[in-house]
Amino acid sequence: MTDGETPGTGKAEEAVFDADQMEAARKLFAGPISFLKSAPALKFLPDPDVPELAFAGRSNVGKSSLLNALTGRNGLARTSNTPGRTQELNFFDVGDPLSFRLVDMPGYGYAEAPRDVVRKWGFLVNDYLRGRAVLKRALVLVDCRHGLKDVDREVMKMMDAAAVSYQLVLTKSDKVKATALAQVREQVEAEARLHPAAHPQIIATSSEKGGGIAELRAALVAAAFA
Ligand code: GDP
Repeated sequence: MTDGETPGTGKAEEAVFDADQMEAARKLFAGPISFLKSAPALKFLPDPDVPELAFAGRSNVGKSSLLNALTGRNGLARTSNTPGRTQELNFFDVGDPLSFRLVDMPGYGYAEAPRDVVRKWGFLVNDYLRGRAVLKRALVLVDCRHGLKDVDREVMKMMDAAAVSYQLVLTKSDKVKATALAQVREQVEAEARLHPAAHPQIIATSSEKGGGIAELRAALVAAAFA
């Protein structure tokens, strides 16, 4: 357990970013953010003119809640488990003037067998990941109560193959005790080390309590402008 960690809140992550970086990131995410478009096919992607940061994770992992917590607004991202909408990439413009885009990727792996995930998740996602030079980082969200599932591992392999830099982010950290959180973090960190494209740092977040949110904002801004 990290010194000073408060049981059950997931707060007090290791301080990787300094106060100035966290504040700059807070300001960016507190500024104008708007829904740009849904892209159901590659030809509908916006022009690749600013950095993009993409969010992926199993259905129900807490992706919409995390997007809403990061941007401090309710209802920016909707839970999109509706069949038929699963292929869409949703783009959000951050900043005025536009500084970067957040990309809400379809939730995956709700019912499918792991090996079917990549196929079901769709060619659109695969093509997007492989072909998008402005995609600076993808976040792969992992429910801290469940840890990595085989479906997540398939997605990680897909991102390794696409050479997309990605970072594993634990969600719902308020739902487990600090010791359990430390354990899952260690396990996930150990697995991340085996993946060439995975960022070594795991960030634990709670959209409910706010733990790790400021740090994740700073990590995203750093990735966008690296
Ligand atoms: P999505 O399907 O990945 O977009 O997941 P949602 O954001 O809709 O969240 C799924 C469920 O988990 C909802 O009932 C949320 O209220 C709950 N949830 C999401 N994030 C958190 C969190 O940080 N803490 C707690 N306690 N519940 C959360």
